[in-house]
Amino acid sequence: MTQAIPITIIHYDEIALKGDNRRRFEECLAENIRAKLKRAGLLDCKIRRLYGRITAAHGTWDALQTQTFHESLQTTFGVAFFADALLVANDLDDIEYAALSIAGRQPFQTFGIVTRRAVKNTPFNSKETNIQIGSAVQHASGAGVDLTNPELTIHIDITQDGSFVYANKIAGPGGLPTGIQSKALVLISGGIDSPVASFMMQKRGITPVYLHFHSYPFTSDASIDKVKRLVQQLDTFSGPSPLYMQPFSDIQKAILRDVPDKYRIIMYRRLMMRIAERLAQNIGAKALITGEALGQVASQTMQNMAVIENAVSMPILRPLIGFDKKDIIQKAQAIGTYDISTEPHDDCCTVFMPKKPATRATLSDIEEVEKRLLISSLVEQALNTIV
Ligand code: ATP
Ligand code: MG
Repeated sequence: MTQAIPITIIHYDEIALKGDNRRRFEECLAENIRAKLKRAGLLDCKIRRLYGRITAAHGTWDALQTQTFHESLQTTFGVAFFADALLVANDLDDIEYAALSIAGRQPFQTFGIVTRRAVKNTPFNSKETNIQIGSAVQHASGAGVDLTNPELTIHIDITQDGSFVYANKIAGPGGLPTGIQSKALVLISGGIDSPVASFMMQKRGITPVYLHFHSYPFTSDASIDKVKRLVQQLDTFSGPSPLYMQPFSDIQKAILRDVPDKYRIIMYRRLMMRIAERLAQNIGAKALITGEALGQVASQTMQNMAVIENAVSMPILRPLIGFDKKDIIQKAQAIGTYDISTEPHDDCCTVFMPKKPATRATLSDIEEVEKRLLISSLVEQALNTIV
């Protein structure tokens, strides 16, 4: 009998992955897992790429370390599921030994065996494996076989590197590994939506960088601190990311002075977009991300969005565009940003908010009004004050 080696297998499930893309995906995912475990202080762990899966081999960990390890994988984009397995030789007796020790970890009334054989050079096939291991588990546990809805499913993956035997699959967040797409600049407010928008795009592989406009001293320190904590929470998924802060009140004062009430919000947003675009260009970000959702507030009409978008040429990604508020709230709760977002705070724009914003601004009206402002020098000044 050879040794049974404890090892965690990590699966991803982007079905369209082929050729080079697949290798890039696996390498990126493996690297992100390594980095995340390192940040969590779990140094004694070897991550390898292995035929369509990634494996993590580690020494003996206590319960807390195991929990940290699981939480790390559960928050790494690209992980579809993972399971703590035993790795044995491609030998039916060894597989049986592993299956029995996995089955011994928990009580169950019914079970099933699911064997997948990725190599064809074993002297036994999947069916024979299911039969021998099934009867051994039945004999040892007294439980019944149930192939449709068993309490315990024992998986046996027979590969070139040996057989992986495991039971409990733990779900990861899915998506694509952070860094597989370009950097993108997230316009983050202290609200509910923009953190969720960031999460959605992080999940599709972008590397986030954040920009927040604040009106300190018109707004409190607490609102700045809140945004920092939102970013910290989002960082649990993608790792540490920069947060830029732009003191926006000079621009707001200029707008307050020269722009009719009803156009103020659109004007703030157009200025925000211009500043964001310039920052993005400076730091190599390829798109802007906002938490806008169609019709959610009076200013978020299609027409207004078009006018806002017109201020810049960089793509603006709005992953929440078709979401209902309740779905956004649910998502915010699930990713741990809701409680932070709903702490009372004064937003930079609520302080300078008009009573009745225009819902159907036209580009020509706005461009006419903008002539009263020294747009390019305002943008230049704003860029110089970003920290
Ligand atoms: P959120 O919940 O993200 O604040 P919202 O529904 O309140 O969104 P608005 O306040 O109109 O909508 O803002 C629309 C988008 O503009 C935000 O989702 C965010 O991306 C961006 N934005 C608004 N205020 C700021 C700010 N102070 N700093 C950075 N981005 C901002
Ligand atoms: Mg807001």
